[in-house]
Amino acid sequence: MFIAKTSDGQIVSLMNVSRETLTHLKKQEQYFCPACSGELLLKMGMKKLPHFAHKSQCSIKPEGESQQHLLGKKKLFHWLTWQGFETQMECYLSELNQQPDLLFQWNGKKGVIEFQCSIIPLEEMYRRTTNYINHSYRPLWIVDHRLITAQLKHRVQLNEFLTHFITRTSSGDSFILAMDPREEKFYTYHHIVPYSINRAFVTVQEFTLQERLEKLLISKDQSFPFYDYWFEETERWVKRLLIIPNGRKNTFLQFLYHHHLHLLDLPPEVGVPVPDMFIIKNSPIEWQFYIWFYFLYQQRLGAVIPLEDIYSFLGNRLKQLIVQRQLGRFQKSFWRQPVEAYLQFLTNIGFFRREGDKLIVKKIPLLINNPNVNRENVRRSFFRRYKGLILQLFFNSRLIFPEQ
Ligand SMILES: [Zn+2]
Repeated sequence: MFIAKTSDGQIVSLMNVSRETLTHLKKQEQYFCPACSGELLLKMGMKKLPHFAHKSQCSIKPEGESQQHLLGKKKLFHWLTWQGFETQMECYLSELNQQPDLLFQWNGKKGVIEFQCSIIPLEEMYRRTTNYINHSYRPLWIVDHRLITAQLKHRVQLNEFLTHFITRTSSGDSFILAMDPREEKFYTYHHIVPYSINRAFVTVQEFTLQERLEKLLISKDQSFPFYDYWFEETERWVKRLLIIPNGRKNTFLQFLYHHHLHLLDLPPEVGVPVPDMFIIKNSPIEWQFYIWFYFLYQQRLGAVIPLEDIYSFLGNRLKQLIVQRQLGRFQKSFWRQPVEAYLQFLTNIGFFRREGDKLIVKKIPLLINNPNVNRENVRRSFFRRYKGLILQLFFNSRLIFPEQ
């Protein structure tokens, strides 16, 4: 920490102080944490920036501080101040019992930044985030860039921890903001399109600290490089699932087996990329299958299905099968967004007709006939044919649930 309280309640900051002043400060006083009131030590070693450290663990922020965290916080402070934001470092918010790394006035609102360099429990991230939102703060979590594991080109490992950094701009774009304080770079990861339970395609953009916050948030890269890899990645997912050990214990495979279906028979409209599907934990082929199965495959021509029935079926009866992620920055019903996009796509390619808030089944889907021979061709030509309609979903992702 850079901020401490003295025994008589004075605030001492280590930002921009000289070596002499530091030595003087070190001798002079006892210091306390403004958040938990625990005793602090002023440390001025070689490895880290001069900082205050708790004698014993802080009860408000028990995760401790690395040099990376100190450095990032300091650079973020200067970056926000440079943009003209009125910024406070490590301000303790007593009504929330929380201490954001940075607090700043953000277009008339209270913005808070948390720069996260270590993995903390997900419940804790969720709790802090919703606590900020409930008190009308706008939280912005920035992840240490080292915590993002890049896979092949345009792909990252999207573990549970990382999903909690996903935030949403007022234009409806979901993204992760990362920082590398040593290199003085920001990275935004947007168009997050998962293709398996813990991997996702992303579009990455790089920014320097000479660029303003607003620019990071409204970045307009509208390219979707993932599309060219979608076919092969999802196919690889299928092939992997077929050879997993203990496949019989896999819920999805069990379900297919129970209904006399084989994974390879599933047609290409099961497993298409749609926006915002990171809010659903299952792989796209899996969650889309359940929708396709219950509302198309098992239906008869002309069946009338109220949209509300679909959502309530998914949210109640299929709750165990389609697992929703609870992310602090998104409303509880946000999972409807990718479901709606998927239903929209099925409508666009002629399976449904939409009448108000009802869907009418117009076409019963067919399984892939003789998949060992035909599967690759059927899928390949499907994704070639519908490229425009699929990517349209990403351009037109309507803002049904505005930013919190
Ligand atoms: Zn403390």
